[in-house]
Amino acid sequence: MADKELTRGAQLRETLIYKRKNAYDRVSESELQAMEDYCTGYKQFLDAGKTERECVDRTVALAQAAGFKPYERGMDLKPGDRVYRVNRGKAVMLAVMGKKGLDCGVNIAAAHIDSPRLDLKQNPLYEAEELGYFKTHYYGGVRKYQWLAVPLELRGAVALRDGSVVRVCIGSGEGEPRFVINDLLPHLGAEQAKKLMADAVPGENLNILVGSRPLADDDGADRVKLTVLELLHEKYGIVEEDFISAELCAVPAFNASDIGFDRSLIGAYGHDDRVCAYASLAALLELGTPERTAICMLADKEEIGSEGVSGMQSSAFDTFMEDLCAGQNVSLSACYEKSFCLSADVTAAYDPNYAEVYEKRNSAFVNYGMGLCKYTGARGKSGASDASAEVVAYVRRVLDEAGVAWQMAELGRVDAGGGGTVACYMANRNIDTIDAGVPVLSMHAPFETVGKLDCYMTYRGMSAIFNA
Ligand code: MN
Ligand code: MN
Repeated sequence: MADKELTRGAQLRETLIYKRKNAYDRVSESELQAMEDYCTGYKQFLDAGKTERECVDRTVALAQAAGFKPYERGMDLKPGDRVYRVNRGKAVMLAVMGKKGLDCGVNIAAAHIDSPRLDLKQNPLYEAEELGYFKTHYYGGVRKYQWLAVPLELRGAVALRDGSVVRVCIGSGEGEPRFVINDLLPHLGAEQAKKLMADAVPGENLNILVGSRPLADDDGADRVKLTVLELLHEKYGIVEEDFISAELCAVPAFNASDIGFDRSLIGAYGHDDRVCAYASLAALLELGTPERTAICMLADKEEIGSEGVSGMQSSAFDTFMEDLCAGQNVSLSACYEKSFCLSADVTAAYDPNYAEVYEKRNSAFVNYGMGLCKYTGARGKSGASDASAEVVAYVRRVLDEAGVAWQMAELGRVDAGGGGTVACYMANRNIDTIDAGVPVLSMHAPFETVGKLDCYMTYRGMSAIFNA
């Protein structure tokens, strides 16, 4: 049938109605291969980095391999130069210098590399009825029941009085022991099962089982605890008091894996927000010399409000940018007012099993591409930076021109809940900012799920923004 034979209704439908499309219906075979290759790198990144410190280490290794150098204040930089600065081992900023001066602004992708987990308390180790335990304090928004009866590994750092830092990573290597928080058996769980989900597992019950073997030939107290301490001393040279200046995290002891017969999804701990951190990083590492300087900011502490010296509210970012600007005699505020930021963070993917908390017309769907979020927040957009219509239009254009599959996303129904990102902290700096990232199923669970195509499209989206 020739075009002219289209009915008036069909023509109007074609030109007027917004059609959303599954991205699998618009990608080529070669793109699908590129997606697989990209996701292989992403899964490796996830397995290597289960804490922000580890993500920083991995980022620095990848950056150095891609020709990035540690930035030193006062360094002379020219277009195409690639530098990074680590903030206290927990956040990292990378830059590829553009052809244009910093007075023209920069393109920023800001993601976070901390994820919900269970932190050990500062005095964690105790023995109860000849079982050894670690006390924990959960970090970020966790549904506590999800952390019971799953294998855990221990990662983190112990800072010793002499200033040295011992890194800890136990449970991920072949044959290494793991840890667990035990759950109640259903046979005795009837009373607990009547409680509200939020109250059923008290935070002080999230105690990790770490041993059961009493010290031999000894009739003193705490023989199990003593055995654990002896093993820790042998392996790491630490004593109980050293826990006081330690940051040890219990994280899920499973690595990233493909999900589904068709392997179209990835299940892993910490997609939020390493899926966007890796997308931003991968896009930056392969940049040539962009028009405007490109910045990748990987922040810590987003899950607890972006506070603190390594969070997005810290002026560590401003100091880095100010140092770059000083090299070109540009004021930081002049650079910021012309800059653009993608707050690269995940969004909730529509889950047909929990349809009641979503509003279908404005939800992000798995495999529909990078999710753009004009606003986040809760109770009437409270806490959102609410990107302007002009900013949304700009991003639409850039992504369309680059052939990136994208969709609009809102985190659930109005008043169903809500959430925030680093977007408001970037916008508060007078930088035009919009949230964009990968839709996630089971967000904040020990094992989250994302679509490979959305991961890949988000990476492509980051590239498009850096090259805009
Ligand atoms: Mn996040
Ligand atoms: Mn989160």
